This record gives sequence, structure tokens and C-alpha cells, in this order.
Amino acid sequence: MGRRRKQVVKVIKRTLPQAFLCPKCGKNTVKAFADEKNQLGVVVCGACDLRGQFPLTQRMDPVDVYSTFVDKFYAGEKLGAEKGWAA
Ligand SMILES: [Zn+2]
Repeated sequence: MGRRRKQVVKVIKRTLPQAFLCPKCGKNTVKAFADEKNQLGVVVCGACDLRGQFPLTQRMDPVDVYSTFVDKFYAGEKLGAEKGWAA
């Protein structure tokens, strides 16, 4: 009995939504995701309400959406959806 040991492999699943550092307020509260239905990369900061979206030209992971957003943010592109920045 019991010759087979159960291999204990701990897999830490990242089930929590990934949060990223906000380039505006500096908090780790930015959520980024790819809205594949609308072909948009969407970024929202839960702390300062920074938000932006841009058209996806390729399949992106959240981290890609985030880094693209940050690039655009520092490049001075207007990203706020509320300012009419879209597509
Ligand atoms: Zn923020």
C-alpha cells in the first residue's frame, strides 16, 4: 500500500486580476485587458481614474496592453476615452 506517493506540486495560480503600476498616480491599481470583442486594449486605474483605450492590431496579453498604454502615455498621446480619444 501506498507505494505511489502523490506528488505534491504546488502550482500557484494567479487568479487575481493583474494589477499594474499607474504612470499617473504611481499606485499598483491599474487593470489592463484586451477587449477582443471590440478589438480594443483597455486600461483603467482604480485609484486616480486614469483610463485609456486603443485599437488592438494584434492579440495582446494584459501585460502587453499595459506596456503599450504606458508607452503612449509617456509619449503624450491622449488616451482618455472621456476626451474623445479613440481608434
Ligand atoms: Zn492611477
